[in-house]
Amino acid sequence: MAENNEEKNEQEEIGLYEKIIARTEELLGSGRKNLDEALKRAGDDLSSAGSFTREQAEKISIFVKRDIQHAIDSTDRGRETVKGAVDPKRVAVGAHSLFSKILSNTAETLSDWAKKSEQHLEFKTGEVTSPGALTCKNCGEAIHMKNTAKIPPCPKCHQTIYRKSY
Ligand SMILES: [Zn+2]
Repeated sequence: MAENNEEKNEQEEIGLYEKIIARTEELLGSGRKNLDEALKRAGDDLSSAGSFTREQAEKISIFVKRDIQHAIDSTDRGRETVKGAVDPKRVAVGAHSLFSKILSNTAETLSDWAKKSEQHLEFKTGEVTSPGALTCKNCGEAIHMKNTAKIPPCPKCHQTIYRKSY
């Protein structure tokens, strides 16, 4: 049944998203990799282990990376410069629980990442993302996601592009 396959696929992708975060934390904790390297390696490790294809790992890594960028951006919004480590206490609850270890382990690279995160970050239906509030760009309807999940179409206008806040 198509519906069951879709649901299975969704659970797999959410699981992969969370595994990539956990593996990235481990790799950063070992202190030998920067954030980009750790993310890439986490995806490679998980696809090598055989449960996921390289294609899946690459796709989900992009979502993880975007959400980390968004978490950094949310933390430092309005500041002229970003220097040193983000204080995990200043990261709002949603991002904090998921990314605090990553944010506190990446002091040297956060400036570069923050620069990248000034770029517009879009959140689209069908992508996996961390908990937070998504606001429909078309009609302004807000969805509050309490868990990591796939983004649904807007419940009000059925459009597919959101901005996110915590
Ligand atoms: Zn809408």
